[in-house]
Amino acid sequence: MNEVLIVGSVALDSIETPAGTVDNALGGAATYGSIAASLFAPVHLVGVVGADFPAPHIEFLKSRGIDLAGLQIVQGGATFRWKGDYIEDLNVAQTHETQLGVFEHFEPMLPEAYKQAEFVFLANINPELQARTLDQVARPRFVLCDTMNLWINIAREAVVKVFGRVDMAVLNDGEARMLTQEPNLLRAARAIQQMGPRYVVIKKGEHGSLLLAGDEMFAAPAYPLQEVVDPTGAGDSFAGALMGYLAQTNDVSLANIKRAIVTGSVVASSTVQDFSTKSLAALTHQEVARRFEQVRRLSAF
Ligand code: AMP
Repeated sequence: MNEVLIVGSVALDSIETPAGTVDNALGGAATYGSIAASLFAPVHLVGVVGADFPAPHIEFLKSRGIDLAGLQIVQGGATFRWKGDYIEDLNVAQTHETQLGVFEHFEPMLPEAYKQAEFVFLANINPELQARTLDQVARPRFVLCDTMNLWINIAREAVVKVFGRVDMAVLNDGEARMLTQEPNLLRAARAIQQMGPRYVVIKKGEHGSLLLAGDEMFAAPAYPLQEVVDPTGAGDSFAGALMGYLAQTNDVSLANIKRAIVTGSVVASSTVQDFSTKSLAALTHQEVARRFEQVRRLSAF
């Protein structure tokens, strides 16, 4: 069975949305990505937390078959904390505060078993750390990379450099425009392809996503929801599920990548139905299959 290697933030999030608030809830890009991927394949997680990270979260991640040998626990350090809201726009997080804590001196160190992973998800974290993680993987077969507006603003060159080493870049529409200075989304996606990734996925929140693969294009609708409670982690769940699906099916053909994208979209639709990882953690294979079929019917003509 193929494993998915995931590096990224493991966090405690404080979030405000029109539906309410949560404080210091389980979050982080690698957390959402790992839980989503673990629906389909075993996961090796690379990240860092402080001794303040609640033990029940560790137990929960382990119970999902997520290998935590690569999760450093720094005694005396504080877990990364992110505070944000989605009051103005449910598709765009406004960051209020970022407390780096143990992130500041984090150096990813892959346990031996992780170095053989073929499926690698470089989730949101400093792009230099994404690159240093990838350096340690012996023979990556399919590498997906995510980023965020912060890194595009303060470390654009490093983002472009790491994109040059990956198979697929996944960005939301705003990030794609910001990275390329190109207002037209299709031109932005083409410009990102020029940076190296064979596949570029542009996420458009409730409006679904667009895949560019060479000259081919594929549009995947989002699973329609009447209520979004907390959009946090939608992008990470999308990418994590996509990678888990590719690893499980052991098939990186374009036809299968399309199915992986719809799977990612369906898993992300569950994530946003409750705060933090609550709804994602309760998602079943039956529900994934049901929503997958609904999306198929929704877009067939
Ligand atoms: P998204 O899928 O884009 O909604 O990702 C949300 C997650 O990103 C939250 O759980 C945050 O903890 C995490 N996050 C926010 N800011 C950063 C950052 N600067 N570096 C890494 N992760 C972050």
